[in-house]
Amino acid sequence: MLLLSVNSGSSTLKFRLYSMPEERVITKGSFERIGSSDSDYTIRVNDEKIYLKKEIKNHEEAVSTLLTELVEKNIVNSLDDIKAVGHRVVHGGVLYSKSVLITKRVIEEIENIKELAPLHNPAAIAGMKAFKKAIPNAKMVACFDTAFHQTIEESNFLYPVPYEWYTKYDIRKYGFHGLSHKYITMRMKDILGYDGNLVICHIGNGASISAIKEGKCIDTSMGFTPNAGIMMGTRCGDIDYSIIGYIMKKENLTYDEVDNILNKKSGLQGIAGMNDLRDIDRAYLAKDNKVILAISMYTERIAEYIAKYFIKLGKIDAIVFTAGGGENDPIIRKEVLDKLKPLGVELDNKLNEETIVRKDKEGIITTNKSSIASYVISTDEELVIAKDTYDLTK
Ligand code: ADP
Repeated sequence: MLLLSVNSGSSTLKFRLYSMPEERVITKGSFERIGSSDSDYTIRVNDEKIYLKKEIKNHEEAVSTLLTELVEKNIVNSLDDIKAVGHRVVHGGVLYSKSVLITKRVIEEIENIKELAPLHNPAAIAGMKAFKKAIPNAKMVACFDTAFHQTIEESNFLYPVPYEWYTKYDIRKYGFHGLSHKYITMRMKDILGYDGNLVICHIGNGASISAIKEGKCIDTSMGFTPNAGIMMGTRCGDIDYSIIGYIMKKENLTYDEVDNILNKKSGLQGIAGMNDLRDIDRAYLAKDNKVILAISMYTERIAEYIAKYFIKLGKIDAIVFTAGGGENDPIIRKEVLDKLKPLGVELDNKLNEETIVRKDKEGIITTNKSSIASYVISTDEELVIAKDTYDLTK
């Protein structure tokens, strides 16, 4: 059965066409800068990446362009071959603890949640509506980034603010990157042979850490929004909220301006003036003082979360690094794991240097004397969407 796994952002649409259940990727690609005259897209045909420049006005146009390309390039014989479309949805609010078949009601509910994710949910809805119009016979599934974290208990998801804020306005921790944390939990079950206790460090430009107890999420670092928890590429993560009002007065800024700075100009970017870990690593090796400071702050926060989750879990079977940085950055992993020496964690420097997903190597990076094993595993959010979509539509 052929199905599409789709991730619609505010100006992007990423897709993969899968043959299921064998999990074979037939083609993949993305549309960038939708809505601007500068838009373009890529699509893989027979292992060749084709790049095309075309003005794409909106998601509907991206979807019709994609479907036309699939037929014209003989990737599918007819659009009827595409039996289902799975959509990534950033926010499922308190309503969704797993992926669901999309109905009119589900679309309405996701629309209602959009206040909680104003940048992301409207894009997902635009993608859903565009596919519904273009291939009405295909079944559609919504896969939520928040769903995997819905097993977190009230004592861990509540903020110490007036309780009515939760009952009236759903103010609570939601957590994000759930499709990635779910994928790693599944992979680790295969590797360990049982549902283990894990601390998963998803270190991309956005970054989050989750505590998994016997296969279920019991806590995660992101919160009501993704700008919570550890320091990230451009986000500050947890800070003293009073800084916001103080800096608004000092710099005569609006709330939205400060919010923008805390999301886009803080984190590694704020301290070191750069946010991509590849640049950060080069500058670190060249002994740039600001970068050394930024890495120290960044890895301290990751280590603190792991130590905190160690207390919550009692016993950890594996600390797992994933996403762009976690998969490919031995410097960050070393700085984090060396800070966990008091817990008996012992890094194998050679394994750590060699284990780079970009070079096709996953696996353990700690010595066999280490009290806790640490793994590097490549994440695959698209595959989680494909699997859930297949399970709900086969
Ligand atoms: P996001 O979806 O949040 O952008 P990704 O998982 O795609 O995150 O990760 C992107 C980040 O991964 C980059 O900003 C970069 O910091 C890091 N990264 C990617 N490749 C490498 C590499 N070879 N070495 C170090 N860091 C890398």
